[in-house]
Amino acid sequence: MFDPTSPSVIRDLLQRHKFRIKKKFGQNFLIDGNIINKILYAADLNNMDKVVEIGPGMGALTYRLSKVAKQVFAVEIDRAVLPLLSETLDGLENVALIEADALKINFDQLVQERTGNIAGGYKVVANLPYYITTPLIMHLLERHSNVRKIIVMVQEEVARRLTASPGTKDYGALTVAANYYAEVEMAFKVPRTVFLPRPEVDSAVVSMTVREVPAINVKNQHIYFALVKATFQQRRKTLLNALSSMDKDLPKDRWLDIFKQADIDPVRRGETLNIQEFARLADAYTINR
Ligand code: SAM
Repeated sequence: MFDPTSPSVIRDLLQRHKFRIKKKFGQNFLIDGNIINKILYAADLNNMDKVVEIGPGMGALTYRLSKVAKQVFAVEIDRAVLPLLSETLDGLENVALIEADALKINFDQLVQERTGNIAGGYKVVANLPYYITTPLIMHLLERHSNVRKIIVMVQEEVARRLTASPGTKDYGALTVAANYYAEVEMAFKVPRTVFLPRPEVDSAVVSMTVREVPAINVKNQHIYFALVKATFQQRRKTLLNALSSMDKDLPKDRWLDIFKQADIDPVRRGETLNIQEFARLADAYTINR
């Protein structure tokens, strides 16, 4: 049986089509069916699920997704993969290929338009192109209210940052932002050997269950994220020094009042604050600035 998750099928496909792999699009194709099984298991799919896949590539994951999900919307930027995809996905009626830049597309709108019904939402399952991992994850979390679960392969280093605890070196603005919108878990690690061509780093699959409401309720989301960003831009400084350089017009004694109101020690470093503490600080600043 034709199976595009097999390494020999992928190699043969690339050769027959004289396909030139494009580094600039982060093209590292999965050539291990077991890893695909594990991704599907983490995605916990059933025949009611609508799935968006970013970057189908040769279609190895797309093919398997189509067998378990109701519908698959596969968004691919590289026009040159389309002839290969039409071979691997031949006859699969529940797959729609969309030639687009995933950063410029609104997936809520896509699913609504294509299915006429966004109720119940959809899942995103993908082996992400690594050159845009962080902007893609933030694009999904910030601008899509109907995405329920995101299961994505990312660089191991990004997976560590997404799942880090306060006070560790991997904890940063990305951790705080992702955990604001979703419950993030490391699903499993993936060695670089299961890709063609082999990337320079190991990978991991993370699972993000999107929260119905953000993890915390802040008075002003814009101020919250500005404060988080300012803190991590100067992560070696004390909170008082990092934040007073963010808003130089506010005298230090006013900042001290803000810290007091938030019940946070101003000599702590920002990297030790959890998301609730960031929220208290941002709210106190919003009220007193
Ligand atoms: N899903 C395939 C697999 O697992 O073997 C391919 C994964 S490969 C890491 C990333 C895929 O994303 C490539 O097919 C690449 O062309 C595509 N891609 C890169 N940038 C993209 C973008 N901005 N929007 C949509 N697809 C993109």
